[in-house]
Amino acid sequence: MSNHVLIRFPNVSSNVSVARVAAATFASFREFSISDIEEVKVAVSEAVSNAVLHAYPDSQGMIEVLLENRNDGIQITVKDFGKGIEDIDKARQPGFTTMPEHMGLGFTFMESFMDELHIESQPGSGTTVRMVKKA
Ligand code: ATP
Ligand code: MG
Repeated sequence: MSNHVLIRFPNVSSNVSVARVAAATFASFREFSISDIEEVKVAVSEAVSNAVLHAYPDSQGMIEVLLENRNDGIQITVKDFGKGIEDIDKARQPGFTTMPEHMGLGFTFMESFMDELHIESQPGSGTTVRMVKKA
């Protein structure tokens, strides 16, 4: 039977670890190595941290994490309804950040630890980050 899990939570930073554990548990039912699962945990943490930190400056908003099985692995989608990203190509560059105390490496980690990374964003309506890890 095909399976999926949707979790929805407000932009509270402690929910990053809730999402990370949920994704790791979901992944553990597939043929992933321990190090693959560690990579999934980092990628999900980075995507959810971005939604928590950047999407809703000074306001509350919701974040959704969808965990899905595919024939060849798992797909994880992290969606927010916040301010969006004006220039996605720029945001993906290693070291680019709009928060100077940050390293600007979140998207770089997602890209290197997952097999696919797709970012869609509309300024003013939100960002969707979809990642695939092949088992
Ligand atoms: P780090 O992840 O190393 O702590 P960072 O979050 O700034 O630093 P990235 O995760 O690579 O680096 O993101 C790059 C930039 O893209 C961010 O600085 C921010 O401007 C923008 N961004 C990322 N995710 C979102 C989001 N969900 N909503 C709005 N802007 C975002
Ligand atoms: Mg980040």
